[in-house]
Amino acid sequence: MTIDPANPLVFLVGAGPGSPGLMTVRGAEVLSRADLVLYDQLVPERLLDLAPAHAVRMCVRDLPGSHPDKYPHIHKTLIETASAGKTVVRLKGGDPLIFGRGGEEAEALRAAGLAYEIVPGVTAALAAGAFLEIPLTHRMHSSAIALVTGHELPSKPGNKLDWKAIAAFPGTLAIYMGIARLPVIAAELLRYGKPADTPAAIVERASTGDQRSAFATLGTLEEVRRQAGLEAPGLILIGETVAHRSEHPWFEGRPLFGQRVLVTRPAHQAEGMVRKLEHLGAVVSRLPAVEIRDVSDPARMDRALGQLRAGHWNWLVFTSANGVHALLRRLDAIGRDLRDLGGVKLAAIGPKTAEVLREYRLRADVVPDTTFSSEGLAAALKPHVIGQRVLLARANRGRELLRNELAQIATVEQVTVYDQVDVIAPEGSVLDALRRGEVRFVTLPSSNIARGVLAAFDETINGRIERGEIKLVAISPETGNAVRALGYPVAAEATTFTEDGLIEAVLALASQK
Ligand code: SAH
Repeated sequence: MTIDPANPLVFLVGAGPGSPGLMTVRGAEVLSRADLVLYDQLVPERLLDLAPAHAVRMCVRDLPGSHPDKYPHIHKTLIETASAGKTVVRLKGGDPLIFGRGGEEAEALRAAGLAYEIVPGVTAALAAGAFLEIPLTHRMHSSAIALVTGHELPSKPGNKLDWKAIAAFPGTLAIYMGIARLPVIAAELLRYGKPADTPAAIVERASTGDQRSAFATLGTLEEVRRQAGLEAPGLILIGETVAHRSEHPWFEGRPLFGQRVLVTRPAHQAEGMVRKLEHLGAVVSRLPAVEIRDVSDPARMDRALGQLRAGHWNWLVFTSANGVHALLRRLDAIGRDLRDLGGVKLAAIGPKTAEVLREYRLRADVVPDTTFSSEGLAAALKPHVIGQRVLLARANRGRELLRNELAQIATVEQVTVYDQVDVIAPEGSVLDALRRGEVRFVTLPSSNIARGVLAAFDETINGRIERGEIKLVAISPETGNAVRALGYPVAAEATTFTEDGLIEAVLALASQK
């Protein structure tokens, strides 16, 4: 293989400290071209969605060997993949070159004669500064910052850290990997004359909704840590600037800060909702309950498309964004285009579906004003469709209400334009988190999804729902009814039947106490 230094196949990318939004634009760019993503355990999983569907996602945890014997395997994987002409992104927490062994990986690549690129990331200390509002430098109190590893025992032979020099460092100390050795580190700093009343902090999972912190002085930090129950991994900050923090850091004031919310939308439609919730401070897990697939036999759909072209239908009605995508994708696949829909009027069940039509430069003639449900759509359509021919584009399953209502006054047919399949596997880390009580709000964006999700719950999870520890939040009264019909309590129903309405309902519940 020839090496082209301008077109490397290996990228050492900093994933940032935990919040997915903190990876660089360049990082996202190279991820979107990866054939293999080899990622560290602490990397936010949501970033893996940025890789193409075909990309292999491999966690270093799953490579043979345990730390530090893993490194040869990591190097070997990078080299073999790139040598086979594939693009590999090595995704590492924070910045790849700060306590990340990125330098050694680069060295191995150089030795193998491979070109690479290094994409920096937001290192933990910077995230701790921003998300806890601790100025890391301060015009009056700190003109320097030191990034220090707490991993090396002061007593270790060959220890490279000069704790005397560190104690005398004229600025802020950010100590990585130091929680487990905090008593020794503090003793060492005190021994070399760092004042016991120097302000100090510990931060766990900075930049995520899980962020926790404790503030003390160098002399009391270990005791305060123990009382607060903070554990590794975490970052220690020591220095005058720590006292100049905000008492109410902006992030912790977000309305869903620390709240654990489950998003159950299909994987390809979850992103927007996840991002909104994270922005509000929530810790979001995802449990896609259904998957959208092409219909196995498109003959019926193709016939309907032909009828649309021939002007057979007066109205084409969409009850989901997926329906719009599916029908228009098929239209394109059979070599036709939007002109085939020129003569038909369009209806959409709600603003989201109308918005997707707009993405195709189509305007819905009818969208219900407030009630985004089959009932609302039936009521909005009825005055328009009397005596007309109406085609309903829908999933392989769903309610019959719209058809039944409209059939009283119009000629109605339904065509299945996509299949919705239940996909929750009974074994999974998210279900385990639910069993352990680590999720508080389960958002249910449709009746079908609610049924799929609840079918996957076992007695442990159901017990938590009954005791009110897990709260089921439904997007509409219709979805609420589907949940109650299965014998579950509904903690809240959205009053606007949209994703934003669903989030509002979570916000309202979370603010109750
Ligand atoms: N390359 C990473 C550091 C890897 S070493 C970076 O640049 O941030 C792992 C240590 O980083 C952890 O033991 C902890 O001390 C620190 N760390 C990483 N992410 C963190 C976070 N979100 N909050 C607090 N500390 C974090």
